[in-house]
Amino acid sequence: MNINKKKTVIAGNWKMNKTPIETKNFFKDIIPVTTTSKCDIILCVPYIDISYAVKETKGSNIKIGAQNCHWEESGAFTGEVSAKMLKSIDTQYVIIGHSERRLYFAETDTTVNKKIKAALKENLKVILCVGESLEERENDTTNEVVSRQTKVALKGITINQIENIIIAYEPLWAIGTGKTATAEQADETCTFIREIISHLYNRSAAENIVIQYGGSMNSKNAQELLSKPNINGGLIGGASLNANEFVEIINIANSGNV
Ligand code: PEP
Repeated sequence: MNINKKKTVIAGNWKMNKTPIETKNFFKDIIPVTTTSKCDIILCVPYIDISYAVKETKGSNIKIGAQNCHWEESGAFTGEVSAKMLKSIDTQYVIIGHSERRLYFAETDTTVNKKIKAALKENLKVILCVGESLEERENDTTNEVVSRQTKVALKGITINQIENIIIAYEPLWAIGTGKTATAEQADETCTFIREIISHLYNRSAAENIVIQYGGSMNSKNAQELLSKPNINGGLIGGASLNANEFVEIINIANSGNV
């Protein structure tokens, strides 16, 4: 496959971190150093920070995302936020199916699929997370799990819509643990996901889709991971909270060596 490595997307996932004031300070620190960035930059922030982040990044090349949404437009779903609501405050991306949502909030492949459809309907772009647990990797079922997650998540998604989806391969055992998948392991599963996309859609869709690696990526290991042929970006949790660290990863992505 002739993978479009020119498309590198560095996304941060703040999880449940940072107040609005901390959000403002973070962007004040990073905007000056990201204005000439060739790679795309996305920050997925808590709901409460979105409006502040959108305001601070106006006119910059940083895009703001949420970390979840509900599949209905409105209704009796206490504590939830819809894709329509996110769009109304100029959110551009939404993470769907993060392993912490699957693990702690009973998210299933089916709800992931419903959420993706709702997000795309509102013209939000999606970062779909897939990945196996340690037990699944040790049982040699990584491909089976990732294949099921990807196929169910994309059920009913058209070839035109797939252009608005990024897939983040995030092995659960590497998230927030400090334990990174080796660059070879990460590349191998990203390659496998690309083959699924080729099978579900076509070769061109597979060559052009952005497949990120996520799981304890930082400025020390980013170079090795991002230079792998099938990895075109990173979804970064912990290391995206620190402006200097996040900028360093962006600089690596822009260095021309990846
Ligand atoms: C994540 O939250 O998607 C993630 C990859 O976290 P971390 O980088 O902290 O492992």
